[in-house]
Amino acid sequence: MPDFESLPKRDYDAIIVGSGPNGLAAAILMQLNGLSVLILEGKANIGGGLATQDLTLPGFKHDVCSAIHPLAINSPFFRNLPLADHGLEYIHPTVACAHPLDDGSAGVLHSSIQTTAKYLPGDEQAYTKLISPIVKSWPLIENDVLGPLHFPQHPFEMASFGLKGLQSAEKMVRTFTTERARALFGGMAAHSMQPLSNKSTAAIALALITGAHLKGWPMAKGGSAAIAAALGSYFISLGGVIETNTYVTSLSQLPSSHAVLFDVTPKQMLQIAGHKFSSIYKWQLNRYRYGMGVFKIDWALDGPVPFINEFCHGAGTVHLGGTFDEIAGSELAVSNGQLPQKPFVLFAQQSLFDHSRAPKGMHTGWAYCHVPNGSVKNMTAAIENQIERFAPGFKDIILARHTMTTAQMQEHNPNYIGGDINGGIQDITQLFTRPALRWSPYRTSAKGLYICSSSTPPGGGVHGMCGYHAAKKALKDVFGIKAR
Ligand SMILES: Cc1cc2nc3c(=O)[nH]c(=O)nc-3n(C[C@H](O)[C@H](O)[C@H](O)COP(=O)(O)OP(=O)(O)OC[C@H]3O[C@@H](n4cnc5c(N)ncnc54)[C@H](O)[C@@H]3O)c2cc1C
Repeated sequence: MPDFESLPKRDYDAIIVGSGPNGLAAAILMQLNGLSVLILEGKANIGGGLATQDLTLPGFKHDVCSAIHPLAINSPFFRNLPLADHGLEYIHPTVACAHPLDDGSAGVLHSSIQTTAKYLPGDEQAYTKLISPIVKSWPLIENDVLGPLHFPQHPFEMASFGLKGLQSAEKMVRTFTTERARALFGGMAAHSMQPLSNKSTAAIALALITGAHLKGWPMAKGGSAAIAAALGSYFISLGGVIETNTYVTSLSQLPSSHAVLFDVTPKQMLQIAGHKFSSIYKWQLNRYRYGMGVFKIDWALDGPVPFINEFCHGAGTVHLGGTFDEIAGSELAVSNGQLPQKPFVLFAQQSLFDHSRAPKGMHTGWAYCHVPNGSVKNMTAAIENQIERFAPGFKDIILARHTMTTAQMQEHNPNYIGGDINGGIQDITQLFTRPALRWSPYRTSAKGLYICSSSTPPGGGVHGMCGYHAAKKALKDVFGIKAR
């Protein structure tokens, strides 16, 4: 094992290419362990998927990418950082998520298991029996679930979660007898961006539901960019250095260092450092699969969204897709390269709870639906029809809208290949072995080069755990440091 003190002098000990939540997490962990770290970000602002901009009219602050943060607030790494001291404040909506149906009812994810179950009449016991043991055991298994494949610290609890999570959502909803519970679960599982008949699609639903019952589904006050600002400010307070507007296309651009960690996807990493990799590793990266893309809309609205169901007015997130079968059908169509007429829509209404987002009396709307990778189709009408279906009059309150196709998503953030927001499909074969089947998924075949983006376990979302694990690996391999 190398001795850190005896390593030859370099410009920096480590360089991180890309400043998404994973790049920032990796940089912070390395800086905390006494290294000198430089972050190079291609765009003008740090944060990657943590971006807030005036996309529509003056005074309306829109989250360009991520909006709701159960993964950030529950992240074992982020939650131990002093981010509140660096300006981060989470705001909790009255309920985490509502899933309205055509009859005016809704499945509602409350912070309490009992209240959620109470509003799933006919499935109270089934819901409690499924979710309670996972919520109870989560503190024991979170590090195993949110990390690379390894022998678990708590094998019994992990096996119990694994047996449920590895199932398809389609199989798991047979636990429920009512459409309300089935639809609520289906909407959660559809975050996996795969057909709901795929194995392990239940895992993402269980993790998101558990997150709501532990610390909730908050938003960041002022917008998701506030999370990036707090992470960046903390990193700089530790002595770290950030350079923006520096898009990296070649290793020769980089100052000297002992380690480079890439917060990019395999496609870009091949372009930058492919010549350093073994042919088998290059072959594996070339075979890496990207998943569905997204079509995104942000609205400036002349009032709150007139949802029929009362609970939707208190929900930070509203899942709009109707029954489980409808959602499963639309996700299957997208995976087969088709565009559904009634897509599953993920809708957020941050300004109801955070008044800094819109002028008085007015509101923001945020939504996206899944589309085939690289789709050029404008889904505005399909998305707005789905909202209108559960909130008649929605179209009348639209003051302005801003849309993004898959190509525009990738233009905004080069990691969104073909509009894929997860850095690669998260199906069973790429869940733990992303981006390649290796002893450590974070270590490339080239000495000192690591990958730390959401193209590594545990995958997409704002949690920083890919960056944390990659930095931990690099600290041990290159610097002989066993990180906390
Ligand atoms: C529409 C949308 C909605 C989402 N909603 C949520 C949500 O509500 N909650 C949630 O938890 N997650 C959500 N996500 C997902 C989340 O944003 C991502 O999974 C997360 O940001 C991935 O983090 P990352 O650090 O791996 O990469 P990214 O956040 O993608 O950051 C990568 C960074 O690297 C930079 N970069 C790339 N290539 C180079 C290069 N060659 N040189 C220099 N810099 C480079 C990019 O500019 C970018 O800043 C959403 C994403 C989108 C797009």
